[in-house]
Amino acid sequence: MHRLRVDARIAGELNRAMVFELVRAREVVSRIGLARETGLSKATISQIVDSFIQEGFIQTVGPGESEKGRRPMLLRFSPGARWAAGVEFSDTTCGAVLIDLDGAVIRSASSSIRAPSARGAVEAATALVSELIADLAPGKLVGIGIGTPGLVDSRRGIIQMAPDLGWTDVPVGAPFADQFGLPITCLNRAKAAAFGEAWCGAGDGVDNLVYLSVSTGVSAGMVIGQRLYRGVSMSEGEVGHVTVLPDGPLCACGNRGCLQTVAAGPAILARIREELRKNGRAGAPEWSAGTVDLLSLEMLGEVANEGDQIIAGVLDEAAEYLGIAAANLVNTLNPGMLILGGAVIRALPGLVPRVEAVIRRRALSVPAAAVKVVPSALGRTAVPIGAAAFLLSQVSVVGASFHPADGHLSTTHVIEPARSEGPGSPRGAGRFVGLSIIE
Ligand SMILES: [Zn+2]
Repeated sequence: MHRLRVDARIAGELNRAMVFELVRAREVVSRIGLARETGLSKATISQIVDSFIQEGFIQTVGPGESEKGRRPMLLRFSPGARWAAGVEFSDTTCGAVLIDLDGAVIRSASSSIRAPSARGAVEAATALVSELIADLAPGKLVGIGIGTPGLVDSRRGIIQMAPDLGWTDVPVGAPFADQFGLPITCLNRAKAAAFGEAWCGAGDGVDNLVYLSVSTGVSAGMVIGQRLYRGVSMSEGEVGHVTVLPDGPLCACGNRGCLQTVAAGPAILARIREELRKNGRAGAPEWSAGTVDLLSLEMLGEVANEGDQIIAGVLDEAAEYLGIAAANLVNTLNPGMLILGGAVIRALPGLVPRVEAVIRRRALSVPAAAVKVVPSALGRTAVPIGAAAFLLSQVSVVGASFHPADGHLSTTHVIEPARSEGPGSPRGAGRFVGLSIIE
């Protein structure tokens, strides 16, 4: 029989992590209460609590009640002790947030970009983050989470392909890690948003959910058992490339009749322009040839409410296709919640009830009755918040793993800076300490 011993340093890290999670979970705690709950000695608890107070993770809130003797000093978790940055970029826009350890947004910034290349988009994103974190004290920022379009290899921090944008093999993690000297994580934006909604958005407290992003493309993030589902090549959730019309329009991916050729933003706009021209409406007073060409999702959102039959028809058709894909997801995964988000849903919130109606009509009655269909609660910031939350789930904040919704002790997805420790390198961003059992 083997006797297992755990290295004293690792035992210390695990004790710290245990106390950290307990303080986080409770509104207020006392040292004596922590000793009772953890089974650790009062001396060990005091030592850990003192170090957390010094590091800013715990604050004292005053003496509590006691039946006899000295009243215990009450303690509370201080979510502002560390921050994480999250950034989202595409070829046209870039947005970034700073969140605290509870997911509250401390700062946000955005910029409009017209990147001629993927490299230009990455540069715009690093510039935005650089501006956002310029005045932070060393060690305050735990790391940076990135949400991007396309199929992302999170282990290598590379966008493998973004067919809609014509991007292939774009390094994202390394440029960020090298510039900021901090741990970095990279995710596809729909998966980042799904994680954000599960952690502190519409899906807070829901075990199984699907986030369906309708934007330039259509893709899904799936949180199963409060963990982000990752496929074997990390290309899961590409719902936009599910065939809905066997002989439909050619998709940028090479297939015909993909969902996003009929239901993503560019497809919806193209269909409406075509219909307005075909029906001779392009020259009508409300639709000059110029406005038809310049028609944007935002403009569509405004006129969609005015009862234009052509626009309503195209939107109904898009909702039908989205609803078919969503009903298939509901039948396949039986989620407790289906969240609709992305630029198209933000501009056209009326699509949510239409998609829900299709789900109710087409999905099996049992899973359909179990699923709540809701719009994104985090809206425009879902991706950067989710990217930052995912970063927090993957790195060490207090010496051992800190995991908002993901139970994995893992650095699999973290891209560490290549350069050695030096001036400006993060002091607070401790690295993951692996669990090794000594026989
Ligand atoms: Zn496709």
